[in-house]
Amino acid sequence: MIIVMKSGSPEVEIDRINSELASWGLTPEKIVGKHKVVIGLVGETADLDRERLQEISPWIEAVLRVEQPFKRASREYRQGEASEVVVPTPNGPVVFGEHHPLVVVAGPCSVENEEMIVSTALRVKAAGAKFLRGGAFKPRTSPYAFQGHGESALNLLAAAREASGLGVITEIMDAADLDVLSEVADVIQIGARNMQNFSLLKKVGAQNKPVLLKRGMSATIEDWLMAAEYILAAGNPNVILCERGIRTFDREYTRNTLDLAAVPVLRRLTHLPVMIDPSHGTGWAEYVPAMAMAAIAAGADSLMIEVHPNPSKALSDGPQSLKPDQFDRLMRELATIGKAVGRWPQPVPALV
Ligand code: PEP
Ligand code: MN
Repeated sequence: MIIVMKSGSPEVEIDRINSELASWGLTPEKIVGKHKVVIGLVGETADLDRERLQEISPWIEAVLRVEQPFKRASREYRQGEASEVVVPTPNGPVVFGEHHPLVVVAGPCSVENEEMIVSTALRVKAAGAKFLRGGAFKPRTSPYAFQGHGESALNLLAAAREASGLGVITEIMDAADLDVLSEVADVIQIGARNMQNFSLLKKVGAQNKPVLLKRGMSATIEDWLMAAEYILAAGNPNVILCERGIRTFDREYTRNTLDLAAVPVLRRLTHLPVMIDPSHGTGWAEYVPAMAMAAIAAGADSLMIEVHPNPSKALSDGPQSLKPDQFDRLMRELATIGKAVGRWPQPVPALV
């Protein structure tokens, strides 16, 4: 349920309403939007009488029920306003959100050694990326496949962060690694395979680094938003959703089926920023540019692209990784569409 306050409602009145609701055993959450303040009520609200709530104060404009099962993640919960996830990075704050420039995240699937991660970071930064991605702990289908270099890879990510000034996004697999991972990660990634690892979701919800929540490979949009709700309910408002393809029946020509319809659907259902990962979404480097461009045209707020200095030698996901010069080219192509949809204010690096 949400209580929409009239614009210009005095702060003391909002505080008074909050204390009154708290005295009823409820946990009100004040949400300050650009135009209005909303008080969110989640939990045992089924028996609450809307008229009784309305009478608490003449400053209350409306009392509305959120119909969806995901409450905090729903668009209504913020009165239709998109949320902004602001991430401090060494190069300055980067904002993910509907009314902000497209944020490009790029880097290898796995952190392999210092030279490759630092050189990739510098290359993708020069091309216009704002974040470096790279896995230290890798979720692999086979227990015999490369599992990532673990904690030592976090130090290499720290070196790349320092050298490039880019923010770092890396995946958490085990809550026991949260503290060490948080020392280097500016955004913590929850991978597709852990999207419904509810204890992990609660843990990342209870700390303050922003969370990138990838869509589970068999998750419906509702499952995914309910997973986001776990993080929001645990107290962390900074969640970015990442569509990375779902399992359908064709595995011969594409690794996954990239659900680009998720962009407008999420736009309607949620206020959270939306990222598209065409690398895992298609599984093949040659299809990445087309889907990256389609993603911007569809209104995505961010893109995640795998880039590797030598994809044929990559320890994971080589076939879907772009070479740095292919990434440079893609960024120039993306700029054309980004500008057309008003999401590309940064200068486009010149051809070298
Ligand atoms: C990754 O980002 O490298 C990854 C493993 O992604 P996903 O969880 O989407 O498979
Ligand atoms: Mn990968």
